[in-house]
Amino acid sequence: MAERREFQTEVSQLLDIVIHSLYSNKEIFLRELISNASDAIDKAKYEGLTNPAIYDGGTDWKIKLSFNAEAQTITIADNGIGMNHDEIVKSLGTIAHSGTKEFIKQLAEQGKESANLIGQFGVGFYSAFMVADHVSVVSRKRGEAADKAVRWESDAKSSYSIENTTKDTVGTEITMHVRDEDKNLLNDWTLKRIVGTYSDYIEYPIAMDVEKPIIGEDGKETDQTEVAEETLNSQKALWLKDKAEVTDEERNQFYRHITHDFADPAKVVQFKVEGTSEFSALLFIPSHAPFDLFHKDTSFGPMLYVKRVQIMEHCEELLPQYLRFVVGVVESSDLPLNISREILQNNRQIPLMQKNITRKVLEAISKMQQEEPEQYKKFYAELGKVLKEGIYYDHERKEAIAKLALFESTATKAGEYTTFDEYISRMKGEQNDIYYITGGTRRELENSPYLEGLKAKEIEVLFMTDEVDDIVFSQLNKYADKSLKSVLKGDLDVEKVAESTAKSYEELIKGIKESLGERVADVRLTARLKGSPVCLVTSEGAPDANMERLLKAMGQPVPTAKRTLELNPDHALLKAMQNANKDKVAEYAAILYDQAVLLEGGKLDNAAAFVNKMAELMADRI
Ligand code: ADP
Ligand code: MG
Repeated sequence: MAERREFQTEVSQLLDIVIHSLYSNKEIFLRELISNASDAIDKAKYEGLTNPAIYDGGTDWKIKLSFNAEAQTITIADNGIGMNHDEIVKSLGTIAHSGTKEFIKQLAEQGKESANLIGQFGVGFYSAFMVADHVSVVSRKRGEAADKAVRWESDAKSSYSIENTTKDTVGTEITMHVRDEDKNLLNDWTLKRIVGTYSDYIEYPIAMDVEKPIIGEDGKETDQTEVAEETLNSQKALWLKDKAEVTDEERNQFYRHITHDFADPAKVVQFKVEGTSEFSALLFIPSHAPFDLFHKDTSFGPMLYVKRVQIMEHCEELLPQYLRFVVGVVESSDLPLNISREILQNNRQIPLMQKNITRKVLEAISKMQQEEPEQYKKFYAELGKVLKEGIYYDHERKEAIAKLALFESTATKAGEYTTFDEYISRMKGEQNDIYYITGGTRRELENSPYLEGLKAKEIEVLFMTDEVDDIVFSQLNKYADKSLKSVLKGDLDVEKVAESTAKSYEELIKGIKESLGERVADVRLTARLKGSPVCLVTSEGAPDANMERLLKAMGQPVPTAKRTLELNPDHALLKAMQNANKDKVAEYAAILYDQAVLLEGGKLDNAAAFVNKMAELMADRI
C-alpha cells in the first residue's frame, strides 16, 4: 500500500515557485538530475573502498538517459548508491539546508531569471518539476535486497506517495512525465545538446540508445537502421590534462558545472606539481561572492580526488580560510585512497600542497590586479573583505596580501581606488609613515576633524571603511618598512606644537585634566587639528572607537580604553579659556569632552545635560 505524506512547508513553497515562476532556462533540470546521479556514483565508488558489499551490484558505472515521445516521459537511471525508504523521505520531502528561507525569498523576488540558482542551494532535484507534472523515483540502495526497493511519486501539489517495491538493479531511476508545453524536449538531439552543454565533464558515461543507420560492408551507411547505445559526454577530467589542451570555454563550462554559477569565473588557475608531492589542480576564483560565504557552517575548499576517485567534496585543508571563495578540483596520485579527515590532518603532504596552492592562487590574484584592473576592482569589491583576513592570519604572506588591498583616499575621487604602493610613490619627501583613518563611509571620513592637520600639509590619508580594517591594519603595522598610522590614534608626529605655545597652556591643560579626572587618559595640545577645538585619540595598539563598537555589537567584552583629549592651541576658544576661572574651565572642559565624543561617532552618557548646557550658552549670547 502506498502511503501518502505531506511535503515540508518549505518544499511546497519552493515547488510552487518552481512550477509557476521559473520558465526560462528550464533545461537545467537535466543537469541537476545528472549531477545527482553522478554524486550517487561517487558515493558508491567511495563507500565500496571500505565496504566491498557495495560493489556487488557491479562497478560498470553509468548514467542512462531515455525518453518515450508517445508517453511523454524522460527517464534517468544510475547505478549509484541508491536510497532506502528513510533516505528518500528525508532527501525528497524536506530541505535540510540552513539558508532555505533566504533562498526561497530570493527565488520569489528574482522570478524566472533565477532558475540557474536552484542547484546552488542544494534543492536541484525539485527542478524536475519545471518541466514535469509528475515525477516517480524508484530506488534500491546498494547492499539491500531487490524487494527492499522504494517507489516515490509526486505531482508536486502538496504531497507525495511512497511504497515498497522490487527493483532488479541497484541505484535510482527517475521518470518524469513531461508537460505538453515542454514536449519539444522529447527527441534525441535536444537531449544530446543539453547534455553536451551542461554535463560534458561528468566523469561517468551518460548513455542513450539512439537509432543509427547500419553501416554496410562497403563502409557506407545503408537505408536500414539499428538502435545502439551512444555515450553523450566526453568525460574529460580537465584537471589531469595539460593546460594548453583545454580551452577557456571548456574550463568555464566546468566551473559552471561544479558551482551552478551563472557568471564566468574571474580567474582560472590550472597547474601540475611534480616532485615530492605530485598533484594536479584546476581552480577558479569566482567573480562574485557566493551567497553562503559568511555562513558559519558552510564548508569550503576544492574537491579532492585520489586516482580518479572523489574522496572529499570540500577539502578545507587545502586552502587557508581567507581563500575560501576558491573552488575547483585537486587530484593527488600519492595520497592513500582510504584517507579520512583525521589522517588528512596529520598527513605531511597536505601542508605542502596547501602551500603550493596558496602561492599559485595569490599569484593569479596579483596578476589580475596588474593586468586587468577593472576586473580586479569588481573582484575586490566582492571578495576583498575575505582576502584581507589573510593580512591578519597569514604572517608569512601578510605583506604580499596587503599589496592586493584597495582603498579610497584623500587623493582619489569617490569610487576610485589606490594601493599602498601607489600611496608610497606619492609620499612627500619628509613623510615617513602611511596614514589612514577608519570609519563607516568615505563621506563621513572626508570631513573628519582628525584629518585637518594632515590636509593642511597636503599629506594623503587612506580611507578604511570596512569593519575589520582596524584590526587587520593595526596587525599589519608596517608596509614596505613604513609604519602604518591611524590618524585616530596616538601621537601624530607630523608637526610639533611650539615650545612657547606649550608653556603658555600649561595651567589650562592642568585645569582641564583635573576636572575631567577619570574620564580621560591624558589631556594635551595637538597640531592634528586646524579648525576644530578638540578631539579624542586612542592610544596606539588599543582598538579604536569603531572597533570597540563592533566588538560590543558582537557581544564581546571590551574594556573601554580611556582616550586622550587633544586640544587645538590655535582655536579662539582655547585662547579665551586661558583667562577663565576654575569653575568656567571645568564647565567648558565637560562640554568640550562631550563634543569630542560626538566627533568620534560616540554616544553621550548624558545627552540631555549637554543639550541644556548648550542652550544656556546660546541664550547668553543673544
Ligand atoms: P543536493 O544534490 O545539492 O544535495 P538535490 O535536491 O539535488 O540537492 O538532491 C537532494 C538529495 O537527494 C541528494 O543530496 C541525495 O541525497 C538525494 N538524491 C537525489 N538524487 C539521487 C540519486 N540519483 N541517487 C541517490 N540519491 C539521490
Ligand atoms: Mg543536486
